[in-house]
Amino acid sequence: MGMGQSFSSTLLRQELEKIFVSQQKNQQGHPATYIPELAKANRDHFSLALVTTQGEVLAFGDKEVRFTMQSTSKPFLYSLALKTKGPEFVHSKVGVEPTGEAFNSIIELEEKSHRPFNPMINSGAIATTSLIAGVTTDEKFLAIQKHFQELAGKPLDLDEKVYLSEKATAHRNRAISYLMKYFNVLEEDIEETLDVYFRQCSLLVTTVDLAMMAATLANKGRQPQAGKQVLSPEEVSRTLSLMFTCGMYDSAGEWAFNVGLPAKSGVSGAVFAVVPGKFGIAGFSPNIDEKGHSYRVSEAIKEFSKILNLSIFS
Ligand code: GLU
Repeated sequence: MGMGQSFSSTLLRQELEKIFVSQQKNQQGHPATYIPELAKANRDHFSLALVTTQGEVLAFGDKEVRFTMQSTSKPFLYSLALKTKGPEFVHSKVGVEPTGEAFNSIIELEEKSHRPFNPMINSGAIATTSLIAGVTTDEKFLAIQKHFQELAGKPLDLDEKVYLSEKATAHRNRAISYLMKYFNVLEEDIEETLDVYFRQCSLLVTTVDLAMMAATLANKGRQPQAGKQVLSPEEVSRTLSLMFTCGMYDSAGEWAFNVGLPAKSGVSGAVFAVVPGKFGIAGFSPNIDEKGHSYRVSEAIKEFSKILNLSIFS
């Protein structure tokens, strides 16, 4: 079925349920351990959700379970930076090239400009965090939280434990930030910027919330249930382009080749993808592979895309 055709909810439900049941048996992978609090995740948790651009919701598994967004927040954070500062300013600080490197790579700055390669990796997201409007760290964090809440259409809480656990152990992200400060890519205070970055990584969502945020991107920036235009179509298309080329880190190429959808993963075990004009899909299972992607959810989205022929090039 090509992109011009629409899918009945019965078909979407049937196919997603089949995939959910088959992936439930997949025991590969383990929760992330470099953030100590994430290592405590329940390995059995698994959920998949889909939200259409009409606001229809389909969900399977542990749909009430909340998890921290981690890097699935990066596209949304980037979209707020675009809204706040405009594309020219944002891209004077952060590039648009995939790295072929891991999410936390130290080789994250371009050779001449010293900008982070793109906003979907840690360095780029830390740089975009510093562009969010606000005098204090609280003001900046609240601006991000408000933006995410508008996309999700509901209030989102902070997981204090995960936030503090990451803040206490984030030596690698600190190292990257010092380098960016040295090159003047990061103009704001390092610890303050990191504090806001860690907090927004620790915002709690369910798969339905994440699929709703994805559906807002699928719907050219209009939140499907509230009807509010949260982002402009231009902001959405820039965000989706970067998700497509950089969202899955060092497997972005393979993902583009096999799945063909803009997507983003996070080390908590969340992954979401966008089928422009149609729906957002998201999943959560804390067992991740060596590249930081949830095994069950990546396999589920890959399979779903194959069966329904969802690639944007199909
Ligand atoms: N908060 C995590 C970090 O900065 C996000 C990484 C990820 O989800 O890929 O290390």
